[in-house]
Amino acid sequence: MESGFIEAARAAAAAVDEGRLWQSLMDLAAVGARSDGGVCRHALSDEDIAARALLIGWAEARGLEVSVDEVANLFIRRRGRQPDAAPVLVGSHLDSQPAGGKFDGAYGVLAGLEVLIALDEAGVETQRPIDIVAWTNEEGGRFDRSCTGSSVWAGASELESYLGDIGADGVALGEALAKTLAATPDLARRPRRWPAHAFIEPHIEQGPVLETGNIPVAAVTGIQGVRWMNVEVAGKAGHAGTTPMAERHDALQAALRAIGELNTLMSDPHDRVRFTVGRVNVTPNSPNTIPEKVMFSIDFRHPDEAVLEDRGGRIAEAVKTAAAPCRTLITPTLTMDPTTFPEAMVAIIEANASGLGIGCIRLASGAFHDALYAARVCPTAMIFIPCRNGLSHHPDEWAEPRHCAEGARVLAATLAQLADTS
Ligand SMILES: [Zn+2]
Repeated sequence: MESGFIEAARAAAAAVDEGRLWQSLMDLAAVGARSDGGVCRHALSDEDIAARALLIGWAEARGLEVSVDEVANLFIRRRGRQPDAAPVLVGSHLDSQPAGGKFDGAYGVLAGLEVLIALDEAGVETQRPIDIVAWTNEEGGRFDRSCTGSSVWAGASELESYLGDIGADGVALGEALAKTLAATPDLARRPRRWPAHAFIEPHIEQGPVLETGNIPVAAVTGIQGVRWMNVEVAGKAGHAGTTPMAERHDALQAALRAIGELNTLMSDPHDRVRFTVGRVNVTPNSPNTIPEKVMFSIDFRHPDEAVLEDRGGRIAEAVKTAAAPCRTLITPTLTMDPTTFPEAMVAIIEANASGLGIGCIRLASGAFHDALYAARVCPTAMIFIPCRNGLSHHPDEWAEPRHCAEGARVLAATLAQLADTS
């Protein structure tokens, strides 16, 4: 892949219509709208089905080809000159958190649609087809395990393993999936897996960096890795009024020493380490009994595998030493290595932003995305746009129309270029 700037890319970018993209975002946000301005659109719910119907209607009105696979990933194709060539894939997800916003996921899908329309209006033909995708259940808001559609498509997990998952409303994923697929009986069916030439996921940043720097676009370099674990600290219960301080094995005091030590271990002058203790359970949790047992969670993230290995590997010893004489047990709950997007993909986004005169920096993603799974099977990258106060997963989530359009322009140029490369 080359990272130059081509005329078709410029024409496609110029045809992106800010008002039309904004209107589609607002129209989609009306599906599952909350009274506080947010969106509640659970995966495979009636609202999700309605959002899909809206999108399908827009696509078919433009003569685009709509299809779906058995995990209800929804695809919208603009044909290429080589109809059988592996397509360039673009998109994100339509589901939201229970108290989510208008842009998380929706932006990636609708920026894709805006670009396909812009390509038509600019008269740009591409060699490869371009497919928009709306992945099923990215958020994990109804069914706990997230990125269901993209992980099945990428072969990271089997659809069958998800079917029995029970949603927060008591409905099995298999049942909700069947209902969703039954709502669009006429759509062409895609096979479970097929090769893509590349995948681009546009998304709001969900952090403050772009807004703070007044930069409209980021070329995302990858997704940081995580180490999640639970720490159990075992002490001895006793009477709070009678047990001498020197004889105590107070599990909560030990946990506090351990967390203090972890704060030292995780300190980072560059502020790239993300370290959170988000849950603490105290047993018996009584005001006048010395705590016998404490469980606390660790969420440690970093884009660099070496840092995850090094500091992650020192957690157990730090906790054990600080918590003595209490005993400690650490149980890992999730280990995800960082995902690094190919340099060529990041460079194409950067070059197109530069060619369009749109400011762009490189940034690693702090949150998980479907791109994490897509990256396992095809060259993948993401385009971030700013969101107000870095806020997401919240009804007040907001992106400026101008930034939505600038991200879509960079996307248009990038897709036009990727769809013309062999
Ligand atoms: Zn998202």
